[in-house]
Amino acid sequence: MSLLVVGSLALDTIETPFGRVENAIGGSATYISLAAGYFINPVRLVGVVGGDFPTGAIKVLEEHDVDLEGLEVVPSGKTFRWSGRYHYDLNMRDTLLTELNVFEKFEPKIPERHRKSRVVCLGNIDPVLQRRVLDQIEKPRLTVCDTMNYWIEGRNAELRTTLRMVDVVIINDSEARLLSREPNLIRAARLVRDMGPRVVIIKKGEHGALLCTPDMVFSAPAYPMENIFDPTGAGDAFAGGFAGWLARSDDFSDENLKRAVVYGSTMASFCVEKFSVEGLVDLKHLQIQDRFRAFRELSRFDEPPESPDQP
Ligand code: AMP
Repeated sequence: MSLLVVGSLALDTIETPFGRVENAIGGSATYISLAAGYFINPVRLVGVVGGDFPTGAIKVLEEHDVDLEGLEVVPSGKTFRWSGRYHYDLNMRDTLLTELNVFEKFEPKIPERHRKSRVVCLGNIDPVLQRRVLDQIEKPRLTVCDTMNYWIEGRNAELRTTLRMVDVVIINDSEARLLSREPNLIRAARLVRDMGPRVVIIKKGEHGALLCTPDMVFSAPAYPMENIFDPTGAGDAFAGGFAGWLARSDDFSDENLKRAVVYGSTMASFCVEKFSVEGLVDLKHLQIQDRFRAFRELSRFDEPPESPDQP
């Protein structure tokens, strides 16, 4: 049982209708590792930061038992920066700034002892870097890949090459439409599967997630929440819960993929309750399990004893 995560580590500036934070800890690898750490330890992280990455952020990762041997620090460089603004409808967000900084020249080097990782989660990052990581892993049992519109638009051909090499892709609804050029999500999922991944997961924000495998379509609800403060990282927390559960259980059957999607949705729901990574740093296993169970109750119902057409 082992999980390797690659992705961005970032300083995020986020505006929502409820507030604004500057230079908060973020990045796909950060959120994925923190969420996955509730299922498997230690999570092996691969990424790069500049000399300006706060020691407090490193401490948070260390306290969550994230293995940082694969984290490169470039003392003279600047950390990746991202800024986004959410609309009143929190499903809508504008990216205001993406500064790759130290990621521009990053050459991921997987430590020798991590090369046999069984599950690999390629967080949102340049698809070329995702591939360079995969090239260094010996026979992973499952590869999971996340991406976003920035790479679908800017690195389409490279992304398609990466997609041919992975088992599972996780994208949101607008990204699925952008990638497949198909408005219907079920058809879009099939078209994305034709690009390589056996399994496609389409996240629909507060409307849940769709899991499509060669043999089934499963629809998971989202947890109904009254207080959403900051949706940043929800997609990454989803990927962390999903990959973390699969790495822990070492079972890649369709039934267990459904559980993984619900664990992913569970971690995303905790993530959005607070700003930045705050929602993921102080959870208890019992809370996670309670919310997982709540998901089952949300859409469980019994058949009536008589069908409606009987008098
Ligand atoms: P999510 O809300 O799940 O899409 O993830 C938001 C996180 O992704 C933020 O913490 C950002 O720092 C990070 N991010 C945003 N754009 C990119 C990008 N182009 N490449 C890598 N990470 C990014």
